[in-house]
Amino acid sequence: AQMIRLQNVSKTYFTKGKRDGVEALKPVDLHVPQGQIHGVIGLSGAGKSTLIRCVNLLERPTTGTVTVDGQELTGLSRDALNQARHRIGMIFQHFNLLTSRTVFDNVALPLELMGVKKAEIRERVTPLLELVGLADKASHYPAQLSGGQKQRVAIARALASRPRVLLCDEATSALDPHTTGAILELLQDINQKLGLTILLITHEMEVVKTICHRVSLISGGELVEEADVGDFFTAP
Ligand code: ADP
Ligand code: ADP
Repeated sequence: AQMIRLQNVSKTYFTKGKRDGVEALKPVDLHVPQGQIHGVIGLSGAGKSTLIRCVNLLERPTTGTVTVDGQELTGLSRDALNQARHRIGMIFQHFNLLTSRTVFDNVALPLELMGVKKAEIRERVTPLLELVGLADKASHYPAQLSGGQKQRVAIARALASRPRVLLCDEATSALDPHTTGAILELLQDINQKLGLTILLITHEMEVVKTICHRVSLISGGELVEEADVGDFFTAP
């Protein structure tokens, strides 16, 4: 079954006072089956970020439909969309942690917002911290952590609502190669253990080679090529 389906999705950014918009994404189709790790690779400005932000409607597509886990997100009411977003976790290049909250409380935040009771929050956060290898850092603040540890917190937070899909927006781009490797290993682990479908965007070939099953190449707002990773990197 397809976990993520983009059909004819495009995005044009309009700015006030300008008649012509920027067509960041031309109409694209993208299908990601359940359990797959799909990478979208391209140069800076190619439209990667726009594409991935259209999946959970952080950006509202100009045209097209987005379907995740069988539910069409485009066309949902605001409340229904907020519910549906619990099924879609996201991590970012710069982690986006709350500096005034501990590791534990960062991971707990989405659950607090969902109205989960304190006792259950504790029951759910602790194993997530164990999963990402930070059980001993629960009371630390983000400023006390390395970049790799911060991204581990962000991964635990993204998993807190028990999503079916994880979106990774240049998740290793701020990390050194060694730390990148460790985070990619963790993502692979999560993909296998939880059966989570992962869509990631990157400008780094190495990331795609290391963990993706399938890859799309994006250029000038168009998906110009798609292949299994083995075929993508084999010279003709
Ligand atoms: P990438 O993630 O591959 O670097 P982006 O999706 O960020 O690419 O950007 C694609 C194009 O859209 C670029 O030309 C960029 O300048 C433009 N763009 C991105 N965000 C906006 C915005 N909010 N308003 C106007 N133009 C934007
Ligand atoms: P309160 O005392 O305000 O009712 P709790 O007893 O649930 O709240 O937790 C107090 C604080 O302890 C929380 O804000 C959280 O930072 C931390 N905390 C709770 N459970 C754990 C845990 N299992 N591991 C680490 N820190 C925790």
